[in-house]
Amino acid sequence: MRIVLLGAPGAGKGTLAKDLVGLFNVPHISTGDMFREAVASGSELGRQVQNILSSGKLVPDEIVNRLVRERISKPDCKDGFILDGYPRTVQQARTLDEMLTAMGQKLDAVLYLKVSEDVVVERLTNRRVCPRCGRIYNLLSMPPKSDEICDDCGTKLIQRDDDREEVVRNRFKVYNEMTAPLIDYYKKKGTLIEIDAEADHQITVRKTVEALKKVIT
Ligand code: AMP
Repeated sequence: MRIVLLGAPGAGKGTLAKDLVGLFNVPHISTGDMFREAVASGSELGRQVQNILSSGKLVPDEIVNRLVRERISKPDCKDGFILDGYPRTVQQARTLDEMLTAMGQKLDAVLYLKVSEDVVVERLTNRRVCPRCGRIYNLLSMPPKSDEICDDCGTKLIQRDDDREEVVRNRFKVYNEMTAPLIDYYKKKGTLIEIDAEADHQITVRKTVEALKKVIT
């Protein structure tokens, strides 16, 4: 099962990916998480991308492509993966096609989670994450039991730098310019599945699983 999750920042790709991992038993590969881990570890890569991440711009294609090439070549990706946040430009999508062709593989589906800018801004500015266990909350729709503290590990929740409103608006602009063209790219290839992601999360999961069952059987 090789899936790409496509959609604006805040469309719910990461949350959906975590549900799909449990159902299909393939690794969740989030390039955003990989870059945030690199920044947190203070590695050379982390130093290169730190400012790009906090401004909401895109990391150069060659850096992202190299990272993904290495990751999907690992043994745990033998039976598939869920790519979240990659590809994000047409150049990345072409590179992914080449990588998969060279490995004798292909994408089963590109799930396009459709949401409006207003919904994205509301979701992201209210998003909080646990810096320790990674659990994601929303202060409006999925709040922690006690004030901004992780239910699972008791750690104080944080707001990602790039979830501040001005950065969110910029990320949406970058998404429209650089990533939205991928909707047509995958529509032409016949792999695009469009999901209305403004509804309740459980409904999105159900619709996604129904759509995927049709593709894999
Ligand atoms: P995300 O968590 O997917 O929203 O990613 C956070 C940030 O990481 C983005 O705003 C970009 O700066 C960077 N990033 C993640 N994935 C990519 C990608 N495929 N291409 C370029 N930059 C990326």
